[in-house]
Amino acid sequence: MGDWFQTIVDVEATSEEAEALAAEVREWLVGSGVAAPERTPCVLDAELGHPPGPRAAEVADASGWSPDWPGSWSGGVSVLTGRTVFDGGQGDPTAVSCPHCSASVVLVDDCFELLDAAWAPFREVVHGWAEGRDVVLACPSCARPVAPAAWRWEDDYFAFGHLGFTFWNWPPLRPGFVSDLTARLHGHRVVLLDGKL
Ligand SMILES: [Zn+2]
Repeated sequence: MGDWFQTIVDVEATSEEAEALAAEVREWLVGSGVAAPERTPCVLDAELGHPPGPRAAEVADASGWSPDWPGSWSGGVSVLTGRTVFDGGQGDPTAVSCPHCSASVVLVDDCFELLDAAWAPFREVVHGWAEGRDVVLACPSCARPVAPAAWRWEDDYFAFGHLGFTFWNWPPLRPGFVSDLTARLHGHRVVLLDGKL
């Protein structure tokens, strides 16, 4: 059994905005009882995170989960700022589409092996983001330039951003909670990504 995570990524916050937004949302998570105020080693992508708070069970759909969730060993919430490629953790990205014309580029063959020719330019986009470079590609269909964070990845496999909130081994977050959190990000577009380690 692996560890499951859900990450709400703000794909529009700039590196300058990220810290202040992170602090606002952190305060709201703690203030509303979703996350506990103390920080402990309860997350897998940072040294410390916030354990679930007294009202955590209200924001996640725990039907089908262990009835004692959240227990004392439950995973917590990490708040990550800084330029990051957030990814789904396992397998390969299967397709990506243009935010302007919605044309889709298939990245894998029938056996889910990456197609080198299709993937190569996008690999540059992904690696570029991780290395601090913005690789802007022209859409293969409409030829308009697409900024790295604007591509729409199939199944939200990747999200590029400077701010993410990861919930470790929580039951599926309720859509209402995701919208409430999103509302605190000043109307930015968010991507909810999940995956397994
Ligand atoms: Zn296009």
